[in-house]
Amino acid sequence: MSELVLNKLNHIVFKKVADACSEQGLETFVIGGFVRDVFLDRPSHDIDIVTVGSGIDLAKNTAKRLNKNLKVSYFKNFGTAMFQYKGLEVEFVGARKESYQRNSRKPIVEDGTLEDDQKRRDFTINAMAFSLHPDNFGELIDPFNGMQDIKDEIIRTPLDPDITYSDDPLRMLRAIRFANQLGFTIEEESLNAIERNAERIQIISLERVADELNKIMLCKKPSLGFKLLQKTGLLKLIFAEFEAMKGIEVKNGVKHKDNFYHTLQVLDNICKHTDNLWLRWAALLHDIAKPVTKRFDKSHGWTFHGHEFRGTKMVPIIFRKLKLPLNEKMKYVQKMVGLHMRPIVLAQEEVTDSAIRRLLFEAGNDIEDLMTLCDADITSKNPEKVSKYLDNYQLVRRKLKEVEEKDKVRNWQPPVSGEEIMEVFNLKPCKEVGDLKAAIKDAILDGVIPNEYDAAYSFMLEQGLKMGLESNHK
Ligand code: ATP
Ligand code: MG
Repeated sequence: MSELVLNKLNHIVFKKVADACSEQGLETFVIGGFVRDVFLDRPSHDIDIVTVGSGIDLAKNTAKRLNKNLKVSYFKNFGTAMFQYKGLEVEFVGARKESYQRNSRKPIVEDGTLEDDQKRRDFTINAMAFSLHPDNFGELIDPFNGMQDIKDEIIRTPLDPDITYSDDPLRMLRAIRFANQLGFTIEEESLNAIERNAERIQIISLERVADELNKIMLCKKPSLGFKLLQKTGLLKLIFAEFEAMKGIEVKNGVKHKDNFYHTLQVLDNICKHTDNLWLRWAALLHDIAKPVTKRFDKSHGWTFHGHEFRGTKMVPIIFRKLKLPLNEKMKYVQKMVGLHMRPIVLAQEEVTDSAIRRLLFEAGNDIEDLMTLCDADITSKNPEKVSKYLDNYQLVRRKLKEVEEKDKVRNWQPPVSGEEIMEVFNLKPCKEVGDLKAAIKDAILDGVIPNEYDAAYSFMLEQGLKMGLESNHK
């Protein structure tokens, strides 16, 4: 056994599993992601233990040896058990054999041998096991040559890939996700099989799909994953709006850029500067409405007028479809999409403070994230242009800073509240209250009145009168 393996298995959890399985006379193994990650020298926080016998009994026996009070949760129906120990999630299961039916990814399960259990694994690199029995502790059991595939950086299924993917189509997304995360290549037969079986993805719940998409989004270079999704035909099935961005149209000899590849470039760019999943989603979605707003006319060529606004309408639809959260994360992405064109205009020489105040007000504390998105949106291949555009955004940042220091609009609330408006004009909540509030806000942001209570109050009275409202102001 190598030093590396010895070190990684030198953990109290494995020692106690070994004691327990020795007492019970059970063949027991650590299997799957943990073993793979030992050889890749990646950290693992979940450990999967397989035993040829009852996983639940072994889990209880092991837990008792670690700490009398350790709580084991188990599912009798599935024969699985798990506990948490010092930040590790340890799962136990009896070795099993699986057979699948056409319309479900839920297999029929029977007790089996270790080899049966290894055959049901998705990839050769995920099917390796170390024995935990004291007689051969640390011995690698690798019937499908996963070690070689790790060395060659290849994703390959242990059995016929057509069967593996058709049985559980989620594995197609896992293949692409692992290829992206690990920088591995999907073996050709496997890639062809994904293409042939792509339609099967429809039987997978969208929550599972979203989990894998998010894992791709969190990779160092997510474009690799999305290109594979596109190439295999999966993308149009799980995320048609993104697929629709692909392609270039030519009219009168004028073409537009391929928005699919542009977006992927923006996404890779932003990944160098942020781990924030939602800012990454904003990068992916910033131009999502370009296909639906695309127009051609002879004098302007290709235009995508209002794509940022249409984009804000598409964000909730896409989030709902992909089962992404419909909460403040979605609103944040919506805001980024809606504002992504604004800083460009502010880079021009003649910019009013009013335009800058407006952007600060609308972006609030997310203004830096918006600027990060704008930087990432520069995908010109001409280095001189790139540096010019980046400089422009540095200038915008300086202007934003100056105005913010002067006027403090980032987290600003107008000085007269809705409640006060209702009280002064004897109103219940209604449209007029909203209109008055908006008028006060606009007047301050545009510099018509100063950002002060008295000025705002007088302005409110004046506007109310114009609207024909009666005030109780004496
Ligand atoms: P990660 O934890 O980074 O997502 P992992 O390989 O550990 O990667 P898990 O989902 O934790 O993935 O699964 C643990 C192991 O279970 C895998 O290594 C693999 O052997 C097996 N496995 C998981 N999902 C599937 C599946 N859909 N089909 C076949 N085997 C699977
Ligand atoms: Mg895992």
